[in-house]
Amino acid sequence: MRDPTAFLAEEYRQLVDSATDWKLRVLEGPSAPWCEIDGRRVLMFCSNNYLGLSNHPKLKEAAIAAVRSHGVGSGSVRPIAGNMDLHMELERRLARFKGAEASLVYQSGFATNSGLIPQLVGEGDLVVSDELNHGSIIDGVRLSRAERAVYRHTDMPDLERVLATAEEHRPTYRRVLIITDGVFSMDGDIAPLDRIAELGHRHGAMVYVDDAHGEGVLGDGGRGIVSHFHLSRDRVHVEMGTFSKAFGVVGGHISGSRSLVDFAYNKSRTWLLSGSHPPPVAAACLAAIDVLEHEAEHVRRLWELTHRFKSAMRGLGFDIGQSETPITPILVGDSRRAKELSERLFALGVFALPIVFPMVAKDRARIRTIMNAALTDDDLHLAISAFEKAGRELRIL
Ligand SMILES: *Cc1c(COP(=O)(O)O)cnc(C)c1O
Repeated sequence: MRDPTAFLAEEYRQLVDSATDWKLRVLEGPSAPWCEIDGRRVLMFCSNNYLGLSNHPKLKEAAIAAVRSHGVGSGSVRPIAGNMDLHMELERRLARFKGAEASLVYQSGFATNSGLIPQLVGEGDLVVSDELNHGSIIDGVRLSRAERAVYRHTDMPDLERVLATAEEHRPTYRRVLIITDGVFSMDGDIAPLDRIAELGHRHGAMVYVDDAHGEGVLGDGGRGIVSHFHLSRDRVHVEMGTFSKAFGVVGGHISGSRSLVDFAYNKSRTWLLSGSHPPPVAAACLAAIDVLEHEAEHVRRLWELTHRFKSAMRGLGFDIGQSETPITPILVGDSRRAKELSERLFALGVFALPIVFPMVAKDRARIRTIMNAALTDDDLHLAISAFEKAGRELRIL
């Protein structure tokens, strides 16, 4: 008899042979600007911890205090016995921070998209999605039975075309949902949410934005993309985000109307059927909002470093694409060169991951850098020098 699990080793081997397996690096300590990774002290240049909050003393103290007062686990899913005062307080504070009627916190951003999207649309509905949307959106859409139409990346005439086509079939669609990432994580460009909201309004569609990479970065005090474009909440119906990036902790969330939140928590299967956040997580997320509200310097510093880094890299002659955010891709072309550049940078003390096919097109391999507000000026200079040295050695410059 053939071993029924033989495919496990075979498929893994194929990944290794094509160099598309994940070689995991090990972080031996906090995600700070200077990290210990695989025994080397390096500058962290690819974490989503934009503001350095994952190691901020106020968040750490809040988490420790919550362990003392509430323990390490919530004991249940929220609808049964795992709904703590900390969870409720976090949602109140988040709604206030976002200037929304209500907010709801999920276990993760992935759980938010995969739990909520299939409830917003189903059989007889249409989802209209940017071609570069995040995998959790794609999975959420797959879990729904809705039809889907993809428009070209941030291409508004193409979105309009898709919506106009849907309009012709209008009587056959119950609802239409337009869904987009706010900031696209591979290129660092920003979705034209103002125009998407306008088109949605004209065509009677719901608008859902996944702002995972915009929060803590865009808008007034890091309030995100809806604030960045000064949009009204009756034009952007679901503002989704995560506590796992700039907020420095973990957890997904949505903000919008009270009826959105009431609907979402009663219907999302991920929310209903999976344990709620441990008390230290909820408390640390609360502290992160507090820090954003009271320490404006982190977001300011993030942008200052971002502008300096981009202009230095452009000055050196690197192709840094069309990014408008602290995500700066360093485009090098083929996958092998991107991997070599990453290895060389690591040896020079900078940790920045290569992004290669199939994550991006074959000739668009890159090093993706993400700025961190906690870097010093000296750290930034060191990183730029390392890029210059490695770039010249590998004849990218
Ligand atoms: C990271 C990310 C998510 C997933 O968020 P988690 O909270 O880490 O599960 C969802 N959408 C986008 C666009 C992301 O970048």
